Amino acid sequence: MTDAPSPWKIVVHGGAGVIERANLGAADEREIRAGLAAALDAGSAILARSGSALDAVEAAARSLEDDPHFNAGRGSVFTYQGTIETDAAIMEGAKRNAGAVTGATATKNPVSLARAVMEHSPHVLLSREGADQFSREQGLEQVGPEWFATPARRHQLDLMKADESHYFDEELKYGTVGAVACDVHGHVAAATSTGGLTGKRWGRIGDSPLIGCGTYADDRAAAISATGAGEYFIRAAVAHEICARMRMLGEDAATAADKVVADVGSLGGSGGVIVVTPRGQAAYAFNTPGMYRGMAGPEGKSVAIYGDE
Ligand code: ASP
Repeated sequence: MTDAPSPWKIVVHGGAGVIERANLGAADEREIRAGLAAALDAGSAILARSGSALDAVEAAARSLEDDPHFNAGRGSVFTYQGTIETDAAIMEGAKRNAGAVTGATATKNPVSLARAVMEHSPHVLLSREGADQFSREQGLEQVGPEWFATPARRHQLDLMKADESHYFDEELKYGTVGAVACDVHGHVAAATSTGGLTGKRWGRIGDSPLIGCGTYADDRAAAISATGAGEYFIRAAVAHEICARMRMLGEDAATAADKVVADVGSLGGSGGVIVVTPRGQAAYAFNTPGMYRGMAGPEGKSVAIYGDE
């Protein structure tokens, strides 16, 4: 038997939801496709030179955080109070090390703060002022609130507040970003970063920074990043559930992802996931009209938005 190197693969998402041709302008569509491609390129450059899946997912997520089209880092949605509170998580599949933050307010790239929690603290999840303090102590790049804020997100908050019956923007698209990758060493990693939901309050935390819900990586199964109505993804423990089905039922990535997204749907939730296995098999699953997504490997890359692509 030959010991062929594993193929590398990276999959990204930029959120799921009611994303249809009729409601996405041509310029936005072009820029979103370019943003997804840039994130894939950032991760692929690392994986193609035998770099780690962990480095690749961090690089891809940073690229999407810096792009104001997505609800993470710059372009994050506003809370009810008009502030911006970011959530992020990262996990590697070899030893299942993980780090996450919730309610961070001043770190330019929250996914890198999550990685610092994983690598430089004895903890997995830090919150709010403590997360901000840890970030400063780690010497991560700090920015003021104006870095994150965009007029489009401010407008979304104004719309939401004008209609008090809409607590959250569940009928809109979810713009959370995520990346999963497998490297030539057969290791997987996952990263997710988000501003959460427009108009969130009371310190609300979604699935993205919760290990096992919006983010999970296990070399025995797969790496997963989710986007969607976080309250449902928490209740279904989506990312861990996909891994568990693969490990214990022997399902492939696509089957496990479809089953768990269907389960979220049966609870009333919508959204999607990206999955990659240590052997380089990749899958998308979503129960929304569209999901910003893309994948790349040695054979090339593809990006897609609508459900029929
Ligand atoms: N899952 C995120 C949350 O609930 C939202 C999103 O995917 O855009 O915070």
